[in-house]
Amino acid sequence: MNRLRLLLPFAAMLPACSTVTPSTVADEAISADLLRTHVAFLANDLLEGRGVGSRGDELAREYIASHLAAAGCVPGGPDGKWMQPVPILGITSTVTRGLAAKGKGGTATFEAPVNYTAVAGSPSASAAWQDAELVFVGYGIDAPEQSWNDFGDVDVRGKVLLVMNNDPERDPQRFGGKTRLYYGRWSYKFEEAARRGAAGVIVIHTNESAGYPFQVIQASHGRENFWLPFDEGTPTLAVRSWCSEDAARTLCVLGGHELDKLRERAELGNQPPVPLGVKVSLGIENTVRELQSANVVGLLPGTDPMLRDQYVVMTAHFDHLGIGTPRRDDAIYNGAVDNASGCAGMLALARAAAQLPERRRSMLFVAVTAEESGLLGSQYFAEHPTVPVKQMVANVNVDGLNVWGPTKDIEFIGYGKNSLSDVAEALAKRRGRVITPDSEPDKGIFYRSDHFNFARVGVPAAYFKGGHDFLDQPDNRKRMKASYTTVHYHQPSDELAPWWNLEGAAADLRVLFELLAATANADRAPTWTKGDEFEKLR
Ligand SMILES: [Zn+2]
Repeated sequence: MNRLRLLLPFAAMLPACSTVTPSTVADEAISADLLRTHVAFLANDLLEGRGVGSRGDELAREYIASHLAAAGCVPGGPDGKWMQPVPILGITSTVTRGLAAKGKGGTATFEAPVNYTAVAGSPSASAAWQDAELVFVGYGIDAPEQSWNDFGDVDVRGKVLLVMNNDPERDPQRFGGKTRLYYGRWSYKFEEAARRGAAGVIVIHTNESAGYPFQVIQASHGRENFWLPFDEGTPTLAVRSWCSEDAARTLCVLGGHELDKLRERAELGNQPPVPLGVKVSLGIENTVRELQSANVVGLLPGTDPMLRDQYVVMTAHFDHLGIGTPRRDDAIYNGAVDNASGCAGMLALARAAAQLPERRRSMLFVAVTAEESGLLGSQYFAEHPTVPVKQMVANVNVDGLNVWGPTKDIEFIGYGKNSLSDVAEALAKRRGRVITPDSEPDKGIFYRSDHFNFARVGVPAAYFKGGHDFLDQPDNRKRMKASYTTVHYHQPSDELAPWWNLEGAAADLRVLFELLAATANADRAPTWTKGDEFEKLR
């Protein structure tokens, strides 16, 4: 032991060391075999799908912490521990009084989940609308920087808001054209309505605006929803509801209005809300339970005294869906791609990062919990950071690695939003790779994984995904990748299989590693692109 320590200063002076670069470290430390061994454990049936608050959740965390330690990290959680405890509430809502509406055109009742669903937006034992006034508010967006306000100066306190999904798409100059911004997500609409004191929201579902069929909404009916503990000061919405397009038409007709005309008018922007002359009633009862999970935080201290209190943050969620409805006699939702693979990637990157001869800034490796329950672990980390948010210079997230074989390209969600893309592009090029932007900008993927919670507090963030341009058997590989999305995604069959080819994932991670190293060692920290929606938060 002592002898080793004595030798270290001399070892550091050996000329061989000068040839150690992030690139050689990446080549040596990141391998397909290493990734496979981590996935084999994390996606094993013994971990029972790593459901939030389960024994599998704990086992996964302990495994990740011990491998971060073996890699050379020190605990980065509160009180010098690996775990940052994350308290979670599970709320299950039952509709006890179905949606009923009345107006000058008559009355109507609706059936859940045939025409609508309703869930709690707060942890109260029950919630109700009793003859609440229904108001159409277009997209339900107040975006000063886009000069767009669907609320005018109308007071919507105590009212139920009928709102269109997505964000305006017709003007390419506004709301990113066809690209979906956060304003287009229903979570934004619920938050904005809560800020304005509304009693509830009914989102009008259309397949086009949601990107999925109404069956997806119906399937969520009666399921437990997960939340972080509610803050005293944060406004809540008593009831969140979604209805079919037909149900929305009926609601409008009861007040003598036409849904299509209302929507057409809303597209113009800055149109005042329309009280529909319809009163709605509904009642739900909620059961609330408390669960305990945690984020795992590993730290590699920086080597530059001037920069070591700045942090490059890497994230991957370790949770998945646990045990659920059996499919083909299998009830364990292993989440091998989603996201045992990403955790494996993080462990490989931590191991490589510990071997860097120079790491001017510190690095944090955060395995976050409850992503599948609404990005809760990363939200908790962003709201209760273990180091000041202003000192986090970047977040890079992985959620699902490429298990189908090497590609020419790497998909970069958040491409162009901040300076990380340019750096990644240059590094990829040196390895004969190309970075491609989000392949499905209309789906709003940037707002659907953990890096988003870092962007929301101003940290330049990006999300790395596998590419599409396969080097071997491209048609066959493309078909396998497509079948993952249509057949295995969020199903018990997302399992490690003998045919998995992790050479592509290893190659992608080497580029990602060089991006982390470059970010840790650069003179200047990354910045948001001028005019980006998150620039003002930095
Ligand atoms: Zn995931």
